[in-house]
Amino acid sequence: MSSDVLTLDTPLAKVVGDRTAKAMAEDLHLHVVRDLVRHYPSRYARRGEMTALTDLQVGDRVTVLGQVRKVDTRPMRNRRGSITEVTVGDGAGSMRLVFFNHKHARMVVGAWGLFAGTVSSWHGQLQFNHPDCQLLDESTDAAEWASAMLPIYPASKNVSSWVLQKSLKLVFGSPETADQLLDADPVPGDVRRRHGLMPLARAIWLKHHPETPEDVEQADHRLKWDEALVLQVTLAARRRAAALEPGIARPRRAGGLADAVDRVLPFQLTDGQREVGEALAAEIAREQPMHRLLQGEVGSGKTVVALRAMAQVVDAGGQAALLAPTEVLAAQHARGIAGLLGPLGRAGELDGDPEGTRVTLLTGSLRAAARRAALAEVADGSAGIVVGTHALLSEGVAFADLGLVVVDEQHRFGVEQRDRLRAKGTRPPHVLVMTATPIPRTVAMTVYGDLETLTLRQLPAGRGGVSSSVVPVAEKPGWLSRAWERVREEVAQGRQAYVVCPRIGDDEPAAGDQPEDADGAPDGTDPAADPATDRRPPLAVLDVAEELRAGPLAGLRVEVLHGRLTPEEKEARMRAFAAREVDVLVATTVIEVGVDVPNATVMVVMDADRFGVSQLHQLRGRVARGKHPGLCLLVSEASTSSSTGVRLAQVAATTDGFELARLDLETRREGDVLGAAQSGRRSGVKLLSLLHDEELIAEARSEAAALLETDQGLAAHPELAAAVAALNAGDRADWLERA
Ligand code: ADP
Ligand code: MG
Repeated sequence: MSSDVLTLDTPLAKVVGDRTAKAMAEDLHLHVVRDLVRHYPSRYARRGEMTALTDLQVGDRVTVLGQVRKVDTRPMRNRRGSITEVTVGDGAGSMRLVFFNHKHARMVVGAWGLFAGTVSSWHGQLQFNHPDCQLLDESTDAAEWASAMLPIYPASKNVSSWVLQKSLKLVFGSPETADQLLDADPVPGDVRRRHGLMPLARAIWLKHHPETPEDVEQADHRLKWDEALVLQVTLAARRRAAALEPGIARPRRAGGLADAVDRVLPFQLTDGQREVGEALAAEIAREQPMHRLLQGEVGSGKTVVALRAMAQVVDAGGQAALLAPTEVLAAQHARGIAGLLGPLGRAGELDGDPEGTRVTLLTGSLRAAARRAALAEVADGSAGIVVGTHALLSEGVAFADLGLVVVDEQHRFGVEQRDRLRAKGTRPPHVLVMTATPIPRTVAMTVYGDLETLTLRQLPAGRGGVSSSVVPVAEKPGWLSRAWERVREEVAQGRQAYVVCPRIGDDEPAAGDQPEDADGAPDGTDPAADPATDRRPPLAVLDVAEELRAGPLAGLRVEVLHGRLTPEEKEARMRAFAAREVDVLVATTVIEVGVDVPNATVMVVMDADRFGVSQLHQLRGRVARGKHPGLCLLVSEASTSSSTGVRLAQVAATTDGFELARLDLETRREGDVLGAAQSGRRSGVKLLSLLHDEELIAEARSEAAALLETDQGLAAHPELAAAVAALNAGDRADWLERA
């Protein structure tokens, strides 16, 4: 190391030399000292903690701690050189290490060491071939490490855990150097005092040199605060910026479309709909652009809430856009709204009411002439209510005066897309995002941190509700035929059924065949390919429909629906189903979102284990929409005692969306929740868990808001400002945009 003063920005090459630095950069994305000190141990090995060796699996790349039991060196039979077999044990398990031409002078019986490699198996015994090893010097620092926790770092083939450990020693040396190096603490002193947090330098030092599990816990708590506060300040700043840009007030006007909508509604609004409606009406009436997330169970009646808000904006002279994730859903919304408004939605036509407006559908599949006509209505303002898909975001679409954007079923739309629609207003329009996928509070506070949440908890009265059961076909093959009988019984009563499959059919292209009507498993997995396992391919719509027509459902009117059909075909089949011309619709998840056919009462989900928790919940919402009780059968080959089987049983056992959201979060990794681009390195989130740190995140959120309240530019907190800037700098800038 040169005599230069070490700072967090010192390149690692200056500390560890070019070769190691290159490997650290390439393998682990560690470039400067800051990266290294934030490269936390993934776990700690403790001498006397004898579980590690027994937990190993063939193929794991791991570091283990063990004591040498036996060393046996002999010449190799067919080649020059020697082979050394070493047996190490940790009290519970043992494993064989094999070295060629081995020269570890201290590898003697009784010595302790750390061994790293890829676990293989030889004659039934676990083995490392030529592992990296670090023998611990028991004679000199026995006392020190006997009780200590040895940090095990996420390592790579070229950068072992103890190279990292040694490098950290070069950086830190002592707690005092840590203090000097990390004297800038992004968490302000009074926040630290209020929440009992240690200084940053102490936390980082402890994280790398803990003596007890409590040390690690305390360090983690403090370091999570770091992550949460920076994240929340970023989000709070975003909220403030959005709030400062004035929009246009669209106050409610009596005697207009909004009142007319309330008159023609065929039902009484629920209390929840009324309350949420009032909150929205008040916000839309203000100049500050509204920015709301409306959560409500499947079937809770969000559409009508949105429609009332849209009508208010039309009454105030503006336009409202309703953005749906699929063409099927957009068409359904347009049809439903136009149907409800009747003449009020056909202003300008012969039978139209001149007091009304026009409901215009704009999707990617419109023919040229229809598209031109729709674009003209959008541009000249005669279309007060514009319903569409992503096509609404495209360049050629201009609004006369966009006052409100409603995004239905948020989970398919990102911040970026919301922003693109917002940019179509002359001034920022009001924004309402609606989702039926319940969002756990922590996710709402982070991923959706720029939106304030409203919740519609109540379902309209008179709903039959839905009950769910698992059909474990491997254990109870007879139950599947019983399921088809149930479908026949419902159809005999004049009702209809869905059968959902994860895949379309044999020859579909591997990656999602239709960006708009994303079929398959939108939780991010490609259902056709399952490289991790050799499971059979998931069941396909076309095959299943064929089998049902020929066998269990022979004689019923069975139709298929999936994303490979043209939009016209899809639309026609949905219409036919809604008109009861089809008994059973075999479909992919195209029907997941928002499709509304109250007469459908049974859903059979094939290969249910291939769907995510919230997806299953969404799906079964399709059969809970009328006055008849719904039934959802989750068919799976998974054993009922497997984790998958247990998860399905949990889904079947509860319809509480918020509980399911939690379950969903548990079954996914944090990175998936935050979105790939937002995980780890980019979001700065390494330790914080959306599942377990709810309280901490909430506290950090209110501290962040308070800080910005009194110190908008963070002038009094340069360290925090720098950390926020770092999060938003360079290639990290876009992570927030990709929710
Ligand atoms: P979601 O919240 O899932 O989008 P929808 O808005 O599609 O739910 O509403 C589901 C069904 O409930 C629709 O058929 C709608 O007409 C009906 N509905 C909405 N509000 C009420 C209400 N207050 N009373 C009775 N039915 C209602
Ligand atoms: Mg809906």
